Amino acid sequence: MRKEDITENLNRVRARIVTSCAACGRDPDRVTLLAVSKTRPASDLRSAFDAGQRDFGENYLQEALEKQAELSDLDITWHFIGPLQSNKTRAVAEHFHWMHSVDRLKIAQRLSSQRPDSMPPLNLCLQVNIDDEDSKSGVLPEEVVALAEAVAELPNVCLRGLMAIPAPRESEEEQKQPFEALYALLDQLRERLPGQPLDTLSMGMSGDMEAAIASGATMVRIGTDIFGRRD
Ligand SMILES: *Cc1c(COP(=O)(O)O)cnc(C)c1O
Repeated sequence: MRKEDITENLNRVRARIVTSCAACGRDPDRVTLLAVSKTRPASDLRSAFDAGQRDFGENYLQEALEKQAELSDLDITWHFIGPLQSNKTRAVAEHFHWMHSVDRLKIAQRLSSQRPDSMPPLNLCLQVNIDDEDSKSGVLPEEVVALAEAVAELPNVCLRGLMAIPAPRESEEEQKQPFEALYALLDQLRERLPGQPLDTLSMGMSGDMEAAIASGATMVRIGTDIFGRRD
């Protein structure tokens, strides 16, 4: 994609974040834009970086590692946001700053034990299957507290909050329902685990970003509206 188009798209998304925050009285500095760059070439990430973007989200491990090698001269904060098999945790522990899709204790345990001592703790979000869909990965809402309590005990990870990918809905009002449910779950965790930072709600994509921000998102994960449609 042309660099000018990526820059323009980024500026448009940033403006939407500012507008959404203004509409609900939030500080736009409290919403981090995560550029979701899966399937995009490293040159597109470099264009976005040149336009000021620093946080990038990747879904596919091998693809992400290749881009990281190509972009090693850039000071990027890397987020892993896709499903992860437990035999692939080591590369995430060694090459990422954040992991958003932890949905079982075994993954968190392996990430903690494989995180190099020379690196700061890996930031984790628990992925919640907020609509209780059979097809979706994520821990069920009623199992979140138990998982969070166990993850909070692990030494080399830092439990930052919750992530969800709700089922598509028609209106912004309907889109807010699962996001507000995730917000309430994070509130519950804060009460149970007062020693943890728990400052992150990773929710909102190109089609539901406004509803997510209105519901308290602190990290929005935007792919299509920055890099265009994926094939
Ligand atoms: C692809 C993806 C996104 C971005 O979705 P868009 O609709 O392209 O903005 C966000 N989060 C996750 C987990 C994704 O897999």
